[in-house]
Amino acid sequence: MKRADLNPKAGHEIRIFGFTLTTLVLIALGLGIATGLVIKSFVTSEAVFSFLVDGVFRVGGEIFFSSLKMLVVPVVFVSIVCGVGSLEDVKKMGRIGGKALGLYTLTTAVAISIALLISNIINPGAGFHLKTPESFSPKEPPGFAEVLIGFVPANPFKAMADADMIQIIILAILFGVAMSMAKASGKRVLSIFNDLNEVIMKLVMIVMCIAPVGVFCLLGGVFAKQGFEAIAPLSKYFGTVMIVLVLHFGITYLGLLKFVARLSPVVFFKKFQEVMVFAFSTSSSNATLPANMEVSEHQLGVDNSVASFTLPLGATINMDGTAIMQGVATVFIAQAYGLDIGIQGYLMVILTAVLASIGTAGVPGVGLVTLAMVLKQVNLPVEGIGLIIGVDRLLDMSRTVVNVSGDAVVTCVVAKSEGLLDEKAFNA
Ligand code: ASP
Repeated sequence: MKRADLNPKAGHEIRIFGFTLTTLVLIALGLGIATGLVIKSFVTSEAVFSFLVDGVFRVGGEIFFSSLKMLVVPVVFVSIVCGVGSLEDVKKMGRIGGKALGLYTLTTAVAISIALLISNIINPGAGFHLKTPESFSPKEPPGFAEVLIGFVPANPFKAMADADMIQIIILAILFGVAMSMAKASGKRVLSIFNDLNEVIMKLVMIVMCIAPVGVFCLLGGVFAKQGFEAIAPLSKYFGTVMIVLVLHFGITYLGLLKFVARLSPVVFFKKFQEVMVFAFSTSSSNATLPANMEVSEHQLGVDNSVASFTLPLGATINMDGTAIMQGVATVFIAQAYGLDIGIQGYLMVILTAVLASIGTAGVPGVGLVTLAMVLKQVNLPVEGIGLIIGVDRLLDMSRTVVNVSGDAVVTCVVAKSEGLLDEKAFNA
């Protein structure tokens, strides 16, 4: 029998029994919904219902869920250490790095803000009326001073044990900076972290292999309790994410190119299409990186000294599409459970989604893992991820296109401002 193919050379597309993970997750989505609806309509015995829904589905769903949560801390910490630690010559690259970092952060903040705005107009989670999970007890949000103090990881091990993501991210950034400053010793540690990153990515792929079963159980459980009415709000969620992705690409990116870099968005789009298709089919910023570097340097005229630095940095820390999904998902989950996170909550979402996108590795599905951190930060039930996971693969493909495009746009803008973009080559 053919087992799961986890060969890195096969790209990040996992195959199980000859089927792609995408196919299996979609089948699981359909089967989960159908099974849930059948149980809801035909299972009249309370004992059988509870055995299936509170027993089988809950156990299967929770195991998958815990496996995803298991990945959060190592993925975020190691990915950020690798990204920040690879800023080799901090002084020489300071200005370019500063500009790139500033633009990456700014575009992500704009992306998440558009996402929150449009979601509050469309209301993707309205009509769900889910009960807050019993394990979840909303607490009063802490004051601003407490939040600020809470950013400091007083005890790094406690930060990891508690999965306190903001503390872990701050620790990872400081660790990465210190590593770049430590020259030869830092380089040795970085190479270990790069290897560790590879191993952790394999761990992500292993967990993704149980996704079809997890999706089936989670959706089966939801639809057995919820019924058919859950489908419409899901398509509303899907549509909202897609609308914001298109808006962000069309307004923010093409606007940056036209009005800041004074470059033709049409030329960029034409030349970059190939990379976008690559991103869409692989669902991975990392896998798209070689194609992105090739097109940026050889077709868009970006000097190697900029592209070789800003593109890998972007593939590691710049995930506008992911932040958009997380913004819409947060509003969707809050509305689905009938919870109001208030203005303070929205500001917190903007901050944490920017940080989460920094901590999201450029491989398929990780944005959903770091979404848990955003939800946790605003006291929303992380169980809500189970509602959207069934449509995530398609959204992952689409948001990766935006993630990768953002890296290239910022790279062009930075290169142009440094006089390191060959406009003749760009327009050729
Ligand atoms: N697949 C995305 C990327 O590689 C990350 C994510 O949102 O899961 O850019």
